Amino acid sequence: MGLAELSSALGDKAIAGEPLSQHTTFGIGGPADLFVVAHTVPELCRYVRLAWEQGVPYFILGSGANLLVSDKGIRGLVIHNQCQAVRVLPGEEEQTCLVVAESGAELRAVARQAIAQGLAGLEWAVDVPGTVGGAVVGNAGAYGGYISDNLRGVAVFTPQEGECWWQATQLGLGYRTSRFKRNKDAEHPSPVILSATLALYREEAARIQARAAEYSRRRAESQPSGLSAGSVFKRTEQYPAGFLIENAGLKGTQIGGAVVSTQHANFIINQGSATARDVQQLIELIRETVYAKFKIHLELEIELVGEW
Ligand SMILES: Cc1cc2nc3c(=O)[nH]c(=O)nc-3n(C[C@H](O)[C@H](O)[C@H](O)COP(=O)(O)OP(=O)(O)OC[C@H]3O[C@@H](n4cnc5c(N)ncnc54)[C@H](O)[C@@H]3O)c2cc1C
Repeated sequence: MGLAELSSALGDKAIAGEPLSQHTTFGIGGPADLFVVAHTVPELCRYVRLAWEQGVPYFILGSGANLLVSDKGIRGLVIHNQCQAVRVLPGEEEQTCLVVAESGAELRAVARQAIAQGLAGLEWAVDVPGTVGGAVVGNAGAYGGYISDNLRGVAVFTPQEGECWWQATQLGLGYRTSRFKRNKDAEHPSPVILSATLALYREEAARIQARAAEYSRRRAESQPSGLSAGSVFKRTEQYPAGFLIENAGLKGTQIGGAVVSTQHANFIINQGSATARDVQQLIELIRETVYAKFKIHLELEIELVGEW
């Protein structure tokens, strides 16, 4: 692969061997062969195209809030998406507005901005870490709301087809999934989300703020602080994963520097020195124990990425 050629094409913008532990909420992850930050959409497209032309795999990194990056890191180019512009346009109906957010914008910042402007629909997101792009990929949601509820569509870039628009109905959005997540290994080169268009509706600001405040309160009460990637497993058909893990007696179970939170059993916390291997082993232990006790398979919500 043309890593050296790619490196010289990117010039001093590219960093070799950047530790990805600095770019994930777990605080875990080995080096990227090459790492570059995209501040604008044209830059983002250019880096993707350059990597593709050189036959170098690329990985789009949002806030790293849903990732367990391996200790060996990620081969190829990691593009840290910091395209953050947000525009608010009038909607088709009087009471709606369209929010067009670049994919590197922080979802919670977009939610707060919307609330401040009296726009409802994203209250559930006020404390959800991550970018708009990452939220679309995993169809992020909380307290009964999902980004798919308000998503009209996304502008997408692929090196062969350039920029195009995909309607929300074309995105295969489901519980914590989308075609982007499902087809990660099948769709080569993988499409990159450039921006998302969300339809929000006008409502009295005080009512929207009250809902957001209630969600914040509930989150602060139930979720542990510390280095994590949020919920590790998806909710199963019958039970929340945390309920099964807790009832399998696993709260507080530790491998290396990784521990099952005593506050919320579906969170694994990096106590500071955890490796990706520690977390992976803890994940396997949880799965085996829960299966042995309840005959239920836990499916991962977080993504394991990189070279294992
Ligand atoms: C404390 C905590 C609480 C959390 N609570 C919630 C919650 O309530 N609800 C919830 O749904 N999630 C929650 N999460 C998980 C996380 O916030 C979401 O999954 C979030 O949407 C991830 O966004 P990100 O930008 O960090 O994506 P990343 O983790 O950086 O990436 C995730 C995937 O998306 C891909 N990707 C990212 N951007 C693009 C793009 N522009 N184009 C193509 N692919 C892209 C990446 O390549 C990767 O495959 C929580 C996490 C933490 C740490």
